[in-house]
Amino acid sequence: MTAFTENLSEQNQGRTSVRYLVLGGGVTGLAFADALAAQGRGDECLVLEREREPGGYCRSTHRNGYVWDYSGHFFHFRDNMLREELLGRMRALGHRVHEVARLSKVAVCDRYIDFPFQRNIHQLPQAAFLRCLHDLYFATRSASPESSGVGLLDSGASSAPTLPENASFYAMLYARFGRSIAEHFLIPYNEKLYATDLRHLDHNAMGRFFPYCDIDELLRHFVDPKPAGYNARFYYPEAGASAYIEALTTRLEPDMLRLGEEVTRVDLPARTVHTRRGSYRYDSLISSAPLPKLLQLCGEAPSAALSWNQVEVFNLGFDRKGVRDLHWLYVPDRDICFYRVGCYDNCVDGNKLSLYVEIGHAANVDANALRSHAPETLARILNDLRRIRLIKDERLVDWQQLILDPAYVHVSQAGSAFSAQKRQALSDQGVHSIGRYGRWTYCSIEDNILEARALAHQLSAQPA
Ligand SMILES: Cc1cc2nc3c(=O)[nH]c(=O)nc-3n(C[C@H](O)[C@H](O)[C@H](O)COP(=O)(O)OP(=O)(O)OC[C@H]3O[C@@H](n4cnc5c(N)ncnc54)[C@H](O)[C@@H]3O)c2cc1C
Repeated sequence: MTAFTENLSEQNQGRTSVRYLVLGGGVTGLAFADALAAQGRGDECLVLEREREPGGYCRSTHRNGYVWDYSGHFFHFRDNMLREELLGRMRALGHRVHEVARLSKVAVCDRYIDFPFQRNIHQLPQAAFLRCLHDLYFATRSASPESSGVGLLDSGASSAPTLPENASFYAMLYARFGRSIAEHFLIPYNEKLYATDLRHLDHNAMGRFFPYCDIDELLRHFVDPKPAGYNARFYYPEAGASAYIEALTTRLEPDMLRLGEEVTRVDLPARTVHTRRGSYRYDSLISSAPLPKLLQLCGEAPSAALSWNQVEVFNLGFDRKGVRDLHWLYVPDRDICFYRVGCYDNCVDGNKLSLYVEIGHAANVDANALRSHAPETLARILNDLRRIRLIKDERLVDWQQLILDPAYVHVSQAGSAFSAQKRQALSDQGVHSIGRYGRWTYCSIEDNILEARALAHQLSAQPA
């Protein structure tokens, strides 16, 4: 535990009734509490967190000179004011924060090409490049089964064909990019990541985070490449993602956060939550726990409408510097066990190779079995890292296995409709389910902070 965490662990005693009770001390829950504290109303808010330290998926391990997160957690912003505020708060705490121009690649056709794959097909071997270009061109000109493989509606336009409302992610990939781009990269990579049939995901499952690209943009990119995408530039503190959490807690009084306090039941009519230590009465409950978990705490049976994956993360520290000029690498090859690997050290000018490796699993894979197979999985990872030439003779010094469950929500039309209906019903009873897993969506840390702040302003404007 850091000094900062120990400080916050000075548990408050006694408060059992609060206006705003927050379930979960990750980014979302802490941003909500921070927004109330900024209004001078921190005493109306209490955060319950089951772990012994705050942060949720934005926690960091500091060990043997390595700094590891729950796989790479990088800060990227659309809101410049929020960026300046949070960078200022981190720097005021003494954190060194690096501004990084993304260097991400795809391991394909026995080489590394720049990411996004679909913009950089000219870096492929010539035959593969021509096939990708041909299929992209004809997929976006016509929606014949030969070109798209999925029989979509044809808009007749020169760029993106019109997709039916209920088109799947799988169908969208073929329709927007053609067979070769889809099958070289987009299908195998996303199947490894989501650990599901992509026909189960909505065509817009990744929202603004998906790097669309039409043929005009592609041709321009060939001669005038420009960094694109939501994370073309990002920020990363030398202390890891926990620095975001530290910054978000500067305004909190110790009695606003109770650690090691797991909510075990929510009594909606009584507006009361129960933990192993006691009960808390609330006016509003703000939950950032995963929506299926919250529904279970409220006494509901599980629903098949909500599905998700797990991500098994291996953090690896080596004895010397390794690959340079790379922040992360996408690996679509189904024979390689991981879908992505990233270099923490290259984000902070570190002098020893420090990697995160991510493996996607279905939600029903037993986490205990994954834990007991960690040594075998590690051996396979090291072998696969050598096969894709990411490591050579570097020696592994330390490692850590983490399991993120849920990690990526399977955004589907049925799931979104179910989530919207349940969240509305909960909201009518004073429970606000927010955050990446509370809202059941694909989003960033920045989105979590903005959503939590907006809710804090909305609720605090209401009369008591
Ligand atoms: C592999 C991966 C990589 C990512 N990379 C990035 C990135 O680079 N940049 C980015 O912006 N975003 C990234 N994200 C998204 C980011 O992790 C999330 O948006 C963010 O961490 C969500 O914060 P949260 O507070 O909503 O949820 P969480 O971090 O899940 O926090 C929820 C908290 O609730 C607590 N809790 C749950 N149940 C209970 C209970 N019953 N009682 C008490 N407490 C409970 C949990 O312990 C946890 O602390 C990534 C996500 C994944 C999976």
